[in-house]
Order: sequence, then C-alpha cells, then structure tokens
Amino acid sequence: MPASLRSTEPLLEHLPEIASALRAASAILLFLDFDGTLAPIVDDPSLASMPAATHQALARLASDPRFSLAIISGRALADLRLRVDLENLIYAGNHGLEINGPGMEFIEPTAAEHLKALGELSRHLRARLRDIPGVEVENKVLSASVHFRRAPAGSLQEIRQIVNDAVIFDGNPFHVTEGRKVLEIRPSVDWDKGMAVRWIQQASAHPDALPIYIGDDSTDEDAFLALPEGITVSVGQARKTSAQYFLERQELVPEFLLWLSELPSLP
Ligand SMILES: [Mg+2]
Repeated sequence: MPASLRSTEPLLEHLPEIASALRAASAILLFLDFDGTLAPIVDDPSLASMPAATHQALARLASDPRFSLAIISGRALADLRLRVDLENLIYAGNHGLEINGPGMEFIEPTAAEHLKALGELSRHLRARLRDIPGVEVENKVLSASVHFRRAPAGSLQEIRQIVNDAVIFDGNPFHVTEGRKVLEIRPSVDWDKGMAVRWIQQASAHPDALPIYIGDDSTDEDAFLALPEGITVSVGQARKTSAQYFLERQELVPEFLLWLSELPSLP
C-alpha cells in the first residue's frame, strides 16, 4: 500500500513482523527523540530525565554491534549529551542543526552565522515576557525555545503575540514553530529532523542499515516522512501522523527498547 494511504497501526500488535524485518537487516540505525519519547514530559523541562530502565535498555542496545543509536532532539547538543550520558552514540541537537558522533561532525552553516542575533533576540524576549509567570526563554545557541508549560492557560495568546511580533518581520533570519507547550524559534534554513536523519544515514558506517525512528512531536513528522523504508513510530494517543506505527504512551517506549535489546540475532 502506498505510504500516503497507510493507516497508523499499534506497534505492539506488529512485533512478529518487525522482528522478521530486524533479523533480515544487516545493521539497524535506531533514532530516538528525547522529551516525550525517552524522557517523560515534565512541567520544568530542565528537570526532564530518562528512567533508569530506559538508560539500561539504551546501554544494552549501544553495546550491541548490530545497532547504531542516534538521539535527536530540539535540545542543545551539549544538554542532550548530559541527559543521555552514554558514550559512542550519535547526538543531534537543535532539531538536527548540530550533529556529533563517531566519525561525524556537522553544524548547519547558515544557522551558525546567526548566533549573535539569536542571543539578542533571546534577551529581548526575556525582557518582554518577564511579567508573565511560568514562561522561560531558553537560548540553545543555534535555536531558542519559549517554554510555557507552567504559564497560565489564559496567557497563551499574549505569549504567542509577543513572540511573533519579535520574530516575524521582513528580513529576520528566524521563524517560529509550535510544539508541545513550547514555541521554537529556529533559523530559516532548509534543514529539519528529516534532513538530519538522511545526513546521519549517509555519514554512518552502515548507510544501508534499517532505520527505526521513535518520536512524539510535530518536528518528528519530518523524520517519519524522510524514512519511508524504515520503521517509524509515533508516541502518544492516536493522532494525525505520517508514522507507520504508534505507541500509546511514553511509558511503553522503555518496554519496546527492552524488547529490541533482547531480540536474538540470527545464527
Ligand atoms: Mg519529543
């Protein structure tokens, strides 16, 4: 069936065929989003962390020569690396604008030219949003986030207005996208998680590896679309997604990772 007509199926009901595909693959490239996928969503994004069981399953997968692991997130790469805390993984931060891993190094060049402007914009927004409780402006060097999970629901329109007024004007090299309780200020470059995923595939030691991608947010949709040959998994209640499969709750992600790590290899 063409991908566009495919409906999203519950992942856990398709494990036998997924196991067959994995056993037939010479190598597997496992992409994982962080917040809402590896780590439960929490009110204060600075407190997000992976449960111990998830860390253990990841460590086990990372030590399996069949698997390469890539963690891809809107967080800054350095922040992501600290929270995952595993060596020899591929890390992609700022929605893929920066990538680092064994034999891999990438910074999107146009985004890198706008660091100073982004710093000024972040300071300006901090001042403009200072009087709204629960709003946090995070400068992630290549992109910025305005977190509003803890802000009063009634202030959302005002927050959006202030951010749009500061960002959307002719010639500004940034644009705004909205995620789960966050406004993302990103450089207007032709680059997203989908293109980052493709770049990582090409740069990896096994460009023909079977890709798996698990993510929960709107930015992950670009990656789902970029991997029609892969196993794509959307985390969360059934919603409009281009992913092939869904996992109902974030809590099921560690279970699936454990299942993956215990999958015996072919003799
Ligand atoms: Mg996420």
